Amino acid sequence: MTSVVTITARTGPDEISSIIVPSGTEGFIVEPPYRKMGWRASDTHGLTFIDCRVPADNLLGERGRGFHQFLATLDDGRIAIAAMAVGVLQACLEESLAYANERKSFGKPIGSYQAIAFKIADMQVMAEAARLLTYRAAWLKDTGKPFKQEAAMAKLYATEAAVTATREATQVFGGYGFIDETPVARQYRDAKILEIGEGTSEIQRLVLSRGLGLPIS
Ligand SMILES: Cc1cc2nc3c(=O)[nH]c(=O)nc-3n(C[C@H](O)[C@H](O)[C@H](O)COP(=O)(O)OP(=O)(O)OC[C@H]3O[C@@H](n4cnc5c(N)ncnc54)[C@H](O)[C@@H]3O)c2cc1C
Repeated sequence: MTSVVTITARTGPDEISSIIVPSGTEGFIVEPPYRKMGWRASDTHGLTFIDCRVPADNLLGERGRGFHQFLATLDDGRIAIAAMAVGVLQACLEESLAYANERKSFGKPIGSYQAIAFKIADMQVMAEAARLLTYRAAWLKDTGKPFKQEAAMAKLYATEAAVTATREATQVFGGYGFIDETPVARQYRDAKILEIGEGTSEIQRLVLSRGLGLPIS
């Protein structure tokens, strides 16, 4: 159970602010957890606010700057989500490699078949490319340089690559890849949310198109 939530809310006409709401505040209702296809170790709840009041001190940052603060937080968060995708990619690579050397079909390790070996070669490229994009965005942020576009690129590429790699890793594992006890089965279910949270892939493409100066709305 979380102790506080940070929300953005309208605090006036054309004004959005960030506000901290502690758990237990009257009118703040945490709905039962959703049942999800993945990320089951992390609870996700709907939040309802009915006549919920908090002291003015609970304002986070400047009044009316909530939307701006929220967008800045998203830029940071995109690097974190890209890093999660890199972890998933690396895990897919390692697990697929080990299984391709161990599992035999028709008397030979499945890794001796080009169809399987090439999937794993592609995973290595995706893991490495995603890692470099993510490190670059993180380095720009750490050194105080603009990183909005690089965070969007890292998030977009790494998460879409993670979804591709988990699908392919499940294929490498064959029927066993569909069984819950296999790590790749869980990774397949967990990877999808990475393309959605902290701005969907479509929103990353929007950010990148705007950054390129395209007249997109
Ligand atoms: C497990 C989980 C955990 C979450 N945790 C948090 C959290 O901690 N904090 C938080 O704030 N949120 C959280 N979210 C919410 C999450 O950030 C949103 O679901 C996500 O940003 C997408 O927004 P949406 O669901 O409203 O989709 P919608 O905005 O309804 O989008 C639906 C589809 O339309 C597309 N679309 C929408 N607008 C455009 C546009 N302008 N151009 C092109 N395509 C567009 C989207 O890309 C998507 O494909 C969580 C969600 C889940 C499932």
